[in-house]
Amino acid sequence: MVQLVWFKRDLRIADHAPLARAAECGPVLPLIIVEPEYWQLPETSYRHYIFWRDSARELIDSGLPAAVRVGAVTDVFDQLHRDYGIDGIWSHEETGNRWTYERDKDVAAWCKKVGVTWTEVPQFGVFRGKVDRNRWAKRWEAFMAEPAHQAPERMRTVDAPSDPWPEPQALDLAHDGAVRLQPGGRTHGLDVLESFFRSGRGADYRRAMSSPLDGADACSRLSPYLAYGCLSMREVVQAAYAERRIVADTEPHARMITTQSLDSFIARLHWHCHFIQKLESEPEIEYRDLHPAFREARVDGFGHPHYEAFAAGMTGFPFIDACMRSLIATGWINFRMRAMLTAFASYHLWLDWRASGTRLAQLFTDYEPGIHWSQTQMQSGSTAINTPRIYNPVKQSHDQDPSGVFIRRWVPELCGLSGRALHEPWTLSPSQAAEFGVELGKTYPERIIDHEKAARAARERLTALRRTEGFSKEQRAIFLKHGSRKSSRHTPKQGRAWKKRKPSDSQLEMDV
Ligand SMILES: Cc1cc2nc3c(=O)[nH]c(=O)nc-3n(C[C@H](O)[C@H](O)[C@H](O)COP(=O)(O)OP(=O)(O)OC[C@H]3O[C@@H](n4cnc5c(N)ncnc54)[C@H](O)[C@@H]3O)c2cc1C
Repeated sequence: MVQLVWFKRDLRIADHAPLARAAECGPVLPLIIVEPEYWQLPETSYRHYIFWRDSARELIDSGLPAAVRVGAVTDVFDQLHRDYGIDGIWSHEETGNRWTYERDKDVAAWCKKVGVTWTEVPQFGVFRGKVDRNRWAKRWEAFMAEPAHQAPERMRTVDAPSDPWPEPQALDLAHDGAVRLQPGGRTHGLDVLESFFRSGRGADYRRAMSSPLDGADACSRLSPYLAYGCLSMREVVQAAYAERRIVADTEPHARMITTQSLDSFIARLHWHCHFIQKLESEPEIEYRDLHPAFREARVDGFGHPHYEAFAAGMTGFPFIDACMRSLIATGWINFRMRAMLTAFASYHLWLDWRASGTRLAQLFTDYEPGIHWSQTQMQSGSTAINTPRIYNPVKQSHDQDPSGVFIRRWVPELCGLSGRALHEPWTLSPSQAAEFGVELGKTYPERIIDHEKAARAARERLTALRRTEGFSKEQRAIFLKHGSRKSSRHTPKQGRAWKKRKPSDSQLEMDV
């Protein structure tokens, strides 16, 4: 009989509670399952698979004799039960999408049928069952303060034969334009963490994180390593607190990162779980507008010409297209640009967030359903408890890329332009544009909307939605269930006053 440890999005040995606990109960069969049906989902992509597969391969190369099997989980379990006899199944809790939730229900039913106990252990500060949001932050701190689980020193393992790793094409995963992705695996994850603290690149974190140019270096870049569990959230939180103590004792001129940067970073680690908790508590966030007033509001999506232009980085707005194309090539873009892209699709183009969110999920190497869908709804306004933020794509362009370096890098067909024309090529006459080798509609698209008119139309639509009967009552119920207790600014008790306040630049203040 074996203890089967099922590795999902937790590709590490360190701080792996299911492995540590299973090893105390008997011989362990570590298992990684490639589920072809999962890789057919619209939001999964080539780049996700490559990162996950490379991380899993490195885990095996590091000495974990895991079996790799391809198929539906319950079929794989059936086979292994026949061959080895499964005494217990161990895994981390997963707050995944609807598909993984249904799959886990099938697994639970299978375990019940054959009389095997499946023990799931939390890996994030995300809690199952009824959660009191007023106590959530304390529970999170307590969870992160627990000692990390040591990798089992002596572990009896069972070697089971593996299937060959499927090539992406065998899973119908076509190459998706990625040219410079972050490499998978724990070794890279640890290097990224170390360099964030110690190389100086995190020194200007708070300022530089908003820029699509500087953010790529100044942000921690830990997101895919957290999303696929190459590093545990607890070990990153504990490392950040330890680094903070070291930095506080270091002379300011010798610091490679500031305590302020570390505080901002730690706050974001908190948000990671805060957002996943929303999906855990309300799985419908993935596919249904939180506020009922928004449920019929946006109908256009996949296949609509505006969606196609957005998805390809061909909207005619140079900065929007540069962000999208950079994301297609690298699999990452900073928070502010993710928020802007989502808001542009949801407000200016008035597209269904399920379509634009699916496209962005495919492109983010770090796709984490709990953060992704909660943020997508938040930036689309359909939570109704967040200040609607309609970014002006032209202002963002001038503010975040004043010299046009980012646009020229990703939209080379405009590289002959400079100044205002680079940000707003439609302001040139056709003959002026032709002087710089640009022909709108031919060498680069005409802008697909007038952004000022579109923003006005979006504001009018939002106002009309907010006037619908029962809007405030629903809004308050949503706040009580999902709102962060860090700030009471947006408590819907304050009625409509919140909409008049100037939106803040801080992520935290948007985080309600
Ligand atoms: C529409 C939208 C979709 C998003 N989808 C994802 C996603 O699928 N996966 C994902 O990891 N992040 C997502 N984010 C949050 C955020 O943009 C990324 O976590 C961040 O840009 C990743 O880069 P980093 O690791 O360098 O972050 P850092 O700024 O260095 O932050 C450190 C870590 O904190 C967490 N974090 C940071 N910002 C946030 C935030 N606003 N909300 C929740 N957690 C945060 C992440 O785990 C991140 O790795 C999304 C944001 C938006 C607006």
